[in-house]
Amino acid sequence: MAYPIRHSQSPATHNAAYEKLGVDIVNLAFEVNADDLEDAIKGLRALKMRGSNISMPNKTIVHKYLDEVSPAAMLCGAVNTIVNRDGYLIGHNTDGIGYVQSLKDNSIDPAGKKVTIVGSGGAATAVQIQSALDGVREMSIFARDDSFRDNALETVDKINKNTNCKATFYPLEDLDCLKKEMASSYLFTNATGVGMKPLEGQTYIPDASFFPKELIVTDVIYSPHETAMLKMARKAGCKTMNGQGMMLFQAIAAIELMLGQRVDSEYMKEKLGISYVYED
Ligand code: NAD
Repeated sequence: MAYPIRHSQSPATHNAAYEKLGVDIVNLAFEVNADDLEDAIKGLRALKMRGSNISMPNKTIVHKYLDEVSPAAMLCGAVNTIVNRDGYLIGHNTDGIGYVQSLKDNSIDPAGKKVTIVGSGGAATAVQIQSALDGVREMSIFARDDSFRDNALETVDKINKNTNCKATFYPLEDLDCLKKEMASSYLFTNATGVGMKPLEGQTYIPDASFFPKELIVTDVIYSPHETAMLKMARKAGCKTMNGQGMMLFQAIAAIELMLGQRVDSEYMKEKLGISYVYED
């Protein structure tokens, strides 16, 4: 349920998984905006649907119509998956779970380590909260001074109050500080829209000296496959990863929550033509 939804890849991903699992379930895209959301959720209950994937503009408001919200979704302030347990609706957020699982899928494990993440929107919040819940030791969060900036300050506060991770906010305008924090991190993540249309070809990273070759560099953007930032990092010798893995694994995690069954990720990658790690 989202608006707009016509270009969503969710039905193709979910239906490929249901076919592989051999379950008689289909995923359909419904164009639902915020005004119709309450009625749509009532419909979900009435029609005894197994659940729903939720995207914008509904992610941050749908919790009002649910019976329970998972701790991670509560901290993120957003729900992307609803599971219907006999009429009792539970909201989850698998965006961050998908990101962390895509790292693990490539033997990248930030638990106990320091990471630097840029961004203050929906994707950034999910990645930051889940990484902290999953054991990242220290997190430097950068965001530019715009209408999203307060989200990042709130996320830092939530992480420091609710997890063992020590989070710190820095302004993205301070590029010397960004370079310093990146240099002392195991993992760097762009979780902004910079690099995707209409900002395709752009990056806030001034030059390749920001990328020591031991740094693992990831982007939540999945289109284009390789953003200008990832390309610069790969050329500097870093292992890089785009957002296709996050997208795939958030769907796999959502299906697991709804059905209690996990589809083989290698099958899904082949079926959907997904490859998301670059190592020169
Ligand atoms: P959003 O609108 O909630 O947030 C946008 C973020 O980008 C904010 O932090 C904003 O400050 C930042 N930003 C925008 N322009 C900027 C600029 N010029 N310089 C610096 N920062 C800038 O968006 P979102 O939903 O968080 O999505 C962000 C990106 O993540 C998009 O490219 C989206 O496609 C991607 N995404 C990927 C997945 C996945 O599964 N891989 C899931 C969700 C979102």
